[in-house]
Amino acid sequence: MADYYETLGVEKTASFDEIKRAFRVKAMSCHPDHHAGDPEAEKKFKELAEAYEVLKDEEKRATYDRVGHEAFKSGMGGHGGFNGFDFSGMGFEDLFAEMFGMRRGRPRGGKAQGADVRYDLDVSLEEAYHGLKKTINVNTFVACESCKGLGGEGLDTCGTCGGMGVVRQRQGFFVMETSCPICHGTGKVIKKPCKDCSGTGRVRKKRDLEITIPAGVDTGVRMRLAGEGDVAPNGGIAGDMYVFINVKPHKLFERQGDDLYVTVPVPMVTAALGGDVFVPTLDGKGENYTLKAGLQSGTQVKIKGKGMPVLKSDRFGDLYVTFRVETPTNLTSEQKELLKKFDGMSKKNSSLCDDFKNLVSKIFG
Ligand SMILES: [Zn+2]
Ligand SMILES: [Zn+2]
Repeated sequence: MADYYETLGVEKTASFDEIKRAFRVKAMSCHPDHHAGDPEAEKKFKELAEAYEVLKDEEKRATYDRVGHEAFKSGMGGHGGFNGFDFSGMGFEDLFAEMFGMRRGRPRGGKAQGADVRYDLDVSLEEAYHGLKKTINVNTFVACESCKGLGGEGLDTCGTCGGMGVVRQRQGFFVMETSCPICHGTGKVIKKPCKDCSGTGRVRKKRDLEITIPAGVDTGVRMRLAGEGDVAPNGGIAGDMYVFINVKPHKLFERQGDDLYVTVPVPMVTAALGGDVFVPTLDGKGENYTLKAGLQSGTQVKIKGKGMPVLKSDRFGDLYVTFRVETPTNLTSEQKELLKKFDGMSKKNSSLCDDFKNLVSKIFG
């Protein structure tokens, strides 16, 4: 077992404040919100908690300094009744909440709040462009209609917690306080439980929700629908619904942030002589773009304002168009003859190919 001072990363001479600060900083790095179900983080946190419990207490710290870990092993009576450390009866999250004085999911003095619910929604790039109203079908806990969410008739004091809403458990020399599992912290139990919801005050129900998705949404955007999550048991309030947007890939356009990218093929002759090409735009209208003579394959141009709408603004991104010159295939013998004739005539044109050959022979001799 590691030395408690080493575990917290403090000197043996560290003050109480230094120990407290070291514990908080290190413990926050194992926060259960970021490490749910991670046994490594849990183990590390429990080691930190154990070290802190000893070193924060002057008397225990003095004993530890003299005797070491032996002082806190099971069966070593006579040191204030320590039984070693046993966090096993407690969930990581509860333990964390205890150490930092938090109450999870139950705001102090308020009603219990139900869980937040996630809904994943795929939208097309066109839908993301225009924005849309969409009806989604969700399946959440809602208040039971038969008992109006109360869970039944009449109230008794909860026998498990004696009406306190919390139960205390001794864990070594800690006294752990957790929300009562029978009455969920209310301190009351139903005398005559409702049959439709088995006394929980809530039932699962499928229902439609109409949502408005703003123009410009992108993958990773999350929309909060307040109060549309799960209702908490026995007359509690509802959590929130989070709609996670996923924008599906498009066959023509690639999106990067607010900008769009499209590749447009250009016939060889148009590239050489110049002319109009049709450039599609996501609004469905498209544009004629006039090419100058001598377009090279891979040339990119920017068309301003033809990208995606910028979320929560009236601006638009840009459209980047890459032109690919198409080399003709399946030529007739007549076309071949014409091209050969063309090639014989084209020696005096400035040529990228000639420049390239010259550069290669200059470098490699
Ligand atoms: Zn009911
Ligand atoms: Zn209770």
